[in-house]
Amino acid sequence: MDIRIALAGNPNSGKTTMFNGLTGSSQYVGNWPGVTVEKKEGKLRGHKNVIVTDLPGIYSLSPYSPEELVSRDYLVKERPDAIINIVDATNLERNLYLTTQLIELGIPVVIALNMFDLLKKSGDTVNKAALEDLFGCTVIETSALKGQGIKEAAEAAIGLASQKNKLPKPVVFSKSVEAVLAGISESINPVLPANSGNLSRWYSIKVFERDANVLDALKIPETESKKIDGSIKALENEQDDDSESIITNERYTFISKTIKSVMHKKSPALSTSDKIDRIVTNRWLALPIFAVVMFLVYYISVTTLGALVTDFTNDTLFGDWIQGPVGEWLEGIGAAAWLTSLIVDGIIGGVGAVLGFVPQLFVLFFFLAFLEDCGYMARVAFIMDRIFRKFGLSGKSFIPMLISSGCGVPGVMAAKTIENEKDRRMTVMTTTFIPCSAKLPIIAFLAGIIAGGAGWVAPSMYFLGIFAVISSGIILKKTKMFAGEPAPFVMELPSYHWPSIKSVLFHMWDRVKAFIIKAGTIIFIACGIIWFLSSFGFSGGSFGMVEQDESLLAFLGNMFAWIFMPLGFGNWQATVATITGLVAKENVVATFGILTGVGEVAETDPALWAAGRSIFPTAIQGLSFLVFNLLCAPCFAAIGAIRREMASGKWTWFAIGYQTVYAYVMAFLVYQFGSLITGLASFSGWTVAAIVLALGFLYLLFRPDGGMRRRNSMQNHANA
Ligand code: GDP
Repeated sequence: MDIRIALAGNPNSGKTTMFNGLTGSSQYVGNWPGVTVEKKEGKLRGHKNVIVTDLPGIYSLSPYSPEELVSRDYLVKERPDAIINIVDATNLERNLYLTTQLIELGIPVVIALNMFDLLKKSGDTVNKAALEDLFGCTVIETSALKGQGIKEAAEAAIGLASQKNKLPKPVVFSKSVEAVLAGISESINPVLPANSGNLSRWYSIKVFERDANVLDALKIPETESKKIDGSIKALENEQDDDSESIITNERYTFISKTIKSVMHKKSPALSTSDKIDRIVTNRWLALPIFAVVMFLVYYISVTTLGALVTDFTNDTLFGDWIQGPVGEWLEGIGAAAWLTSLIVDGIIGGVGAVLGFVPQLFVLFFFLAFLEDCGYMARVAFIMDRIFRKFGLSGKSFIPMLISSGCGVPGVMAAKTIENEKDRRMTVMTTTFIPCSAKLPIIAFLAGIIAGGAGWVAPSMYFLGIFAVISSGIILKKTKMFAGEPAPFVMELPSYHWPSIKSVLFHMWDRVKAFIIKAGTIIFIACGIIWFLSSFGFSGGSFGMVEQDESLLAFLGNMFAWIFMPLGFGNWQATVATITGLVAKENVVATFGILTGVGEVAETDPALWAAGRSIFPTAIQGLSFLVFNLLCAPCFAAIGAIRREMASGKWTWFAIGYQTVYAYVMAFLVYQFGSLITGLASFSGWTVAAIVLALGFLYLLFRPDGGMRRRNSMQNHANA
């Protein structure tokens, strides 16, 4: 009879190198049945009857990726005679996570402490005997690269394969978890598959984790399943965490204890980076710190430093130095009135209004690039994972959102990396809620109108974006379309470091560049069109240059203005600005720039703001406009990106429809409640409508999900 040995380990642990070393040229490569995951097998060198199977590189045995699924299916169903677990000795913490799962399978395990050469170099040591004792496995120090120890590892595996009673010792969890596991084990024993003698503990843990695949396969009778569910829920409530995370946490607790006892680090136990992380990723402090950091970033970029330079560019540079003199010059050379108007009001007014915000963007992106390059943003993704998971999103969604703070197009495209289709769709749908660079001018502009440029506006809008993402996550996850558990999130946290100034400047420039190019192209053309529409119209039966109120633009705006009446900005100017925002969000401010003629306004006040107050007489109207424009359907370019990622017209319409409805409801609530509170309006039918909508929103947010998540994830696996 052949002896079958499986190689299991994390990606990059040196598995391929070891497999090649063990099997030489006798490999055959195929696919695991039903999936495109590569399956490699080979005969152990010098042994005719020992077959080595290389499992895909994995971080855990959960059911979230095809790699994990084929690996565990193989281990659970085919039952190899021994496992060689390749562990990167320089990265014990992450690698042992898989080990804690492999040792629950009831198969002998040899731990190959690989990269041992590197460990030695670092001066760290591992107490091999202690490790063997803790896991009940044979431990062999190996260097796959140098071919050291791998033969011994294979011999050890062959040795263990023949003595099936030398099984590893599974991790013992906390008392409360063990109690629930014992109950589960009793309940499921009668339904376990025939040949699963050593697998009872593994099955119990999977049932505890509500692993849909296992639940499906076991067909636990209703009464038992209810009992099990009750005991799991009780523990979940007690620990305020979901069962899967409870197990994960306990595994990591075990691992850190293990590492403390078996590993001797030469370098001081905590690097500076670790020390910073103790505070920055601390359970309680992480979020407040993140909030303060983002507040400061937006505050400094929009209100203090950024505003200073932007005021200068808007008022002095474009207003006094460019718009005025260019106008005079054009008049001086006798240019036609329409041409002067096109250049001065249309192009300089519109494009200038947009470019005026470039300094703020420079400051904002300087900070964001710094946070990203020094390693903080990776921590934020990790922190957000803990929170997002509660709302059905994974921390992976954070990366697209981060990128979306620059531009929604690459942000949406970054969702590609999310394997789970539902998570991906959800991310694509919600990521443009985060204010992008083009929305920043809208925020800065409206902040001026609403609150004289007060510092709280910009950060609040950023947090409004996060709120929109999270509340949408909660609401959508409770629907059939999106139900299912988010995939866990594994990423390496790089050590903190001072970023090179070159790379920060490069990243900053990279983002601002796109903005400037857009201002010179799409916005430039749009400004021409908006100017034309706002300058020409029918008056007294003939077509020609007219006052704005009689222009084609006013006509078009008035046609749709009723839509925004309930939101408080049902005038044609705001309507037109909103519509042009669909082409590019920069157009919103550009439109106001053209409609109000920046240069003609008193200098003492930031020019655009004062002019803006003629369109938004009260702060609440401005706020409502801001909320709607930040959350509604993104620009055409981003919609195009959504279309590509969704690969479906139906889903694209659903996405932008959802965003627009969400934006409408939020702006409606802001305006109706806001004007009631500030005494602008009295209680009316609109107020009632607002109350009903608010209650509806709260209902969608807080309604129980009726086990939808779990049922659906089971359904999915059944369908797959
Ligand atoms: P896999 O992703 O687990 O298949 O990992 P690979 O076998 O591709 O190895 C990842 C990298 O680590 C490669 O560059 C290998 O050359 C290197 N590597 C593998 N084993 C060792 C080792 O024991 N010592 C050292 N120094 N490098 C190793």
